[in-house]
Amino acid sequence: MQNNSESLLRAVLEAKCPACRQGSIFKYPVWQISKFADTHKSCPSCGMRFEREPGFFYGAMYISYVFSTGIFLVMGFLTYWFANNPPVWVYVLVVLITSLVLSPFSLRYSRVLMLYLFGGVTYHPLEEGNNTTNNQG
Ligand SMILES: [Zn+2]
Repeated sequence: MQNNSESLLRAVLEAKCPACRQGSIFKYPVWQISKFADTHKSCPSCGMRFEREPGFFYGAMYISYVFSTGIFLVMGFLTYWFANNPPVWVYVLVVLITSLVLSPFSLRYSRVLMLYLFGGVTYHPLEEGNNTTNNQG
């Protein structure tokens, strides 16, 4: 059971398909900055369609908003704490730069969480020979 939740966490962190947890949701790694948002239409491993309905990923904006608010609060607090309550422009600069740097991660993980939380997908491991009955490794 812990094995299953570990693999769920790993699949979320690695942005894998929620149905098979093997196929990548995104086409390119996050550091390919011009293409980081390119999403596969369907899972390369099991074929599940990622955009569950037209405009499905628009809902990820709300999750992204939560991430942005978190970044704003955490960075504001850290700036206050470590810079000893600097002028307002320092807060603005720190929050702006952090938000820009983290925006690819924010976008990708908001889509991943959208898919995992609201995609209505259940986990079906792909059958690869002998892993259907004895996978307690
Ligand atoms: Zn899949």
